[in-house]
Amino acid sequence: MDGFSNYSIAGVAPSILRIFGVTPPEDMQPSIDSLTGLAEGCDRIFMYNPDAIGSWVFDRFEDKFKACLALSPLKLPLRSMFPPVTPVCFASMYSGLLPEQHGIRKYEKPLLSCTTVFDLLPKEGKRVAIVSTAGDSISEIFLGRNIQYYIFRTIKECNEKAAELIKKDEHDLIVLYNGNYDYWMHRVSPTGLAARKQLDKNAEEFLRLHSLIEECWRPRGHKTLLGFAPDHGCHRSAFPPGDHGLDQPSDMNIYHLYSVI
Ligand SMILES: [Zn+2]
Repeated sequence: MDGFSNYSIAGVAPSILRIFGVTPPEDMQPSIDSLTGLAEGCDRIFMYNPDAIGSWVFDRFEDKFKACLALSPLKLPLRSMFPPVTPVCFASMYSGLLPEQHGIRKYEKPLLSCTTVFDLLPKEGKRVAIVSTAGDSISEIFLGRNIQYYIFRTIKECNEKAAELIKKDEHDLIVLYNGNYDYWMHRVSPTGLAARKQLDKNAEEFLRLHSLIEECWRPRGHKTLLGFAPDHGCHRSAFPPGDHGLDQPSDMNIYHLYSVI
């Protein structure tokens, strides 16, 4: 864990496009071969985005993710974007662009004017839904696209809506954001008890999504890529007790887990 991962989260957007058979625009970062290879033949993608789970946190509490790992043939080390704060990172994850290209270079949540997967996929007839909590980055920066937005006050409502959407079977790409670990990590430190409990919740939610997709989509002939895809890591600090935003491995290195169902 001394250095930085080679591939960045900006490789996720072009990979999503390629999996759906769409050629990424030239200005996007390169797609990730191990991801597109794993997802060959997938016609559905579900991206679960838990906030701020860095690779060192994942490693330290790997026991909590054992069941998730067992279901995920690909554990992909990725580099976050600088500065590693939520809107910068998700802008890159879903636009395939670097911060200097998409324009979000600090903690701010403007409406993105660059092209994202949320612009390109509807043009190809793909049905896309974002499920996220009000006021959070994913709920703000991708507005105005020809996709469906399900924005709620609580994470519980978001997760219930995600389950409902899987059962309804109407979307090709669903993005679900959960900010619970980030919230508690800032308040009690990345390894504090309340934060550790959130890791359990994120692992449980991934497993729940996995079994719902298995139950509702697979019997209908769909092949789905399910991602466990945090945006950046975090570090212990004096005040607040947990933070992120520094150009160091604790904040910049993350893992994405990918499962095919
Ligand atoms: Zn974040």
